[in-house]
Amino acid sequence: MSDPDAAAGATDGGTGGDPPVRRVSDWDGERLRGLADAHETPLYVQDLDRVRENCERLLGAFPDADVRYAVKAHTGQAVLEAVRDAGLDAECASAGEVDRALAAGFDGSRLHYTAVNPPARDLDYVVGVAAADPDLTVTVGAVDTLDRLAERGYDGRVCVRVNPGVGAGHHEKVTTGGAAKFGIPYDRAATAARDAAERFDVVGVHAHAGSGIDPDQLDSHRELVARMGELARDLTDPDGEGVAPLDLEYVDVGGGFGVPYREDAPALDLPAVADATREAVAPLPEGVDLAVEPGRYVVADAGVLLTQVNTVKPTPDETVVGVDAGMTDLLRPSMYDAYHPIRNLGGAEGEPSAGEREATPVTVAGPICETGDTLGRDRALAAPARGDLLAVGVAGAYGYEMASQYNSRPRPAEVAIDDGTATTTRRRETLGDLTTVEREAARQGAER
Ligand SMILES: *Cc1c(COP(=O)(O)O)cnc(C)c1O
Repeated sequence: MSDPDAAAGATDGGTGGDPPVRRVSDWDGERLRGLADAHETPLYVQDLDRVRENCERLLGAFPDADVRYAVKAHTGQAVLEAVRDAGLDAECASAGEVDRALAAGFDGSRLHYTAVNPPARDLDYVVGVAAADPDLTVTVGAVDTLDRLAERGYDGRVCVRVNPGVGAGHHEKVTTGGAAKFGIPYDRAATAARDAAERFDVVGVHAHAGSGIDPDQLDSHRELVARMGELARDLTDPDGEGVAPLDLEYVDVGGGFGVPYREDAPALDLPAVADATREAVAPLPEGVDLAVEPGRYVVADAGVLLTQVNTVKPTPDETVVGVDAGMTDLLRPSMYDAYHPIRNLGGAEGEPSAGEREATPVTVAGPICETGDTLGRDRALAAPARGDLLAVGVAGAYGYEMASQYNSRPRPAEVAIDDGTATTTRRRETLGDLTTVEREAARQGAER
């Protein structure tokens, strides 16, 4: 479904061109209200035009690097196609993501599958894809995984994932660099890579520190990058007698480029991060490229979640504003204590426009039977009234992707804005969708 009559895309806040971040206040409120009217709520809106701007900014900051989009941040086909057209590669965390990337037109040479404790089914699938398209690269973080690939007859392109022992991240759950789960410990990585080269085509080394490289965490990012540069130099030009050099193509230093969620947080200075990265990894051996893998940075500020106020409950402590989206639609506040900016777009019948109302401290709570089901606490919003539309900002990354059907809530709809025109990219789930797999299982059981 498309809304040709709703033409103008989100504005960029009047700054013109390509601002480093799009705030929730920069979106065209009238337009968002129109979309909510046409598609109902909760509704994700993803602006592909903004996704393209973010891709361009990354390519501009890292002109000599391979820039790979971490698909898990937003896997929608329209987003993947926009990212592919912009020239980024795809970094996939599962067979399902590889499948989506293939469907979006990425060929093997632009596909990187990162195997984290990969289920056998995923390995079978990816080895099958690689048999048809041997340019695909598998990034491996455990010697055991290499063995499992070899057992499946795989001898193709491998990148060795290293645990650099340093991590960055806005929350302990997203700090991966120092966690034993991810990567081969740094002091064993060179040996593991050389051993792997006897069975595979080792083309790169990789480390991802976690999410949230922020202006005040650049030091740990720099340290990680420096270690990876050192490893690459050691592998391509080893010290020891009789140690064969590896013919690496790249050093991948991961993603984690931060996005300012708070209205007053500064945007990441991407050129400065790029400079620091290049400086720390240098000197790169001849023929070895830098690679980065941003996910959030590409899609986060290109998305908002629209939700309608259904209940306003004043209590002695605070006013609780009940909305029709909750942790099943946007999990980040509950899971990571993540802050998402919220803007009241108004629209309640008989109420003044949101701009004319007084700011009131509120907690915005969802419809799920969990205490943690809030989208924001202690927020100063234009006094919400039943029927108002709220826009939850910076929701384009890890938003719909982490949505669930918990409490038997159908997942929301999503529209994508492309060149100003909105198209449904994910239809709203129905109550019937909630029981599809059960009904199919029952039918199959009856057939047996
Ligand atoms: C999640 C992930 C990324 C992207 O992280 P962002 O914080 O979204 O940039 C990159 N690489 C790997 C291996 C990841 O798991």
